[in-house]
Amino acid sequence: MTDKADLILIAGGGGFIGGALVRYFHDRGFTRIRCIDKKPLPQWYQRTKGAENICLDLSKEKNCRQACRGVTEVYNLAADMGGMGFIEKFRIECLRSILINTHLLEASYQAGVDRYFFSSSACAYNTSLQENADVTALKESDVFPAMAERGYGWEKLLSEMLCQEYWAERKMKTFIARFHNVYGPHGTWDGGREKAPAAICRKVIESKDQGKDSIEIWGDGSQTRSYMWIDDCVKGISKIAHCDELIAKPINLGSSELISVNRLISLAEEIGSITLKYEYNLDAPRGVAGRNSDNTSIKAVLNWEPSTPFREGLGKTYTWIEQEYKKRKAGKEVIQ
Ligand code: NAD
Repeated sequence: MTDKADLILIAGGGGFIGGALVRYFHDRGFTRIRCIDKKPLPQWYQRTKGAENICLDLSKEKNCRQACRGVTEVYNLAADMGGMGFIEKFRIECLRSILINTHLLEASYQAGVDRYFFSSSACAYNTSLQENADVTALKESDVFPAMAERGYGWEKLLSEMLCQEYWAERKMKTFIARFHNVYGPHGTWDGGREKAPAAICRKVIESKDQGKDSIEIWGDGSQTRSYMWIDDCVKGISKIAHCDELIAKPINLGSSELISVNRLISLAEEIGSITLKYEYNLDAPRGVAGRNSDNTSIKAVLNWEPSTPFREGLGKTYTWIEQEYKKRKAGKEVIQ
């Protein structure tokens, strides 16, 4: 385990998962955390007191060199990303995130970084294995033969490879987790980048507030996914990045509780104490039909897996989005 006085870098620290990771390390006594994001500081979801918070574009090589100076561990959570609505529409932006990981890896190597963590995604998996809502959970080897999600998924797959080669050729310890959908407070909940749990909570809250009796659903509601609670995610990142058995070996980090979109909505209705008519928009982006995380590897290596029940995490997420929604309605500044 790292010395708590070592300098750690969290790239994408103004984002949802990066912000939660900074808080996680800070709460565990890490005293030197450098947190970098290209968003201006007032737009960060969380700013942890005591961390060195810097606004910098890490797709630029020079900035990556500056970011890595004196650093012992790097966590790369920076990417141009969003939910299905974003990644189906903005493939170029998604692919261009390759610049961030490419420059950050080389700068880390030059700076003599001890451990480098990369946030990959279940979107790297072969899409032909995800054509049914009734899925067989994806195991790590299912990434080949490669047929990743267009744009976003291919960027993740190639960046994974680069991380693996920095270990194979240059002996820099790299760690790669394939996240399955992550949800929780302090993330995006409106504006086009939000993912299904946040989008559905917001729509239910809106319907209640505006006296609507229906809700628009993207697709036919049968799509299935698993959703990982944010606290499980950051704990998993730390466990993976400090496990030498996992050097350069991509591993699933996700919940294995499979949830359909229809089920997600009924849970949100239950939390909001409202019943709505479902209006299916079959032309909207919907992604693959079904996807789940096979947690055999993570359980075998870490004797642990993300296990917060979805109903529990969704309740907390709903409450937080409702607070933000009310603040916005009252004319206060919110980050969505
Ligand atoms: P997010 O959008 O909230 O955070 C990403 C952050 O990266 C943003 O704050 C953004 O401003 C920053 N960023 C983008 N380009 C940058 C650049 N050039 N320089 C510096 N910062 C830059 O997303 P998130 O949900 O926190 O995702 C974090 C990581 O996890 C990403 O790599 C993402 O692909 C991966 N991931 C997330 C999920 C999920 O469900 N949230 C699932 C799979 C993988």
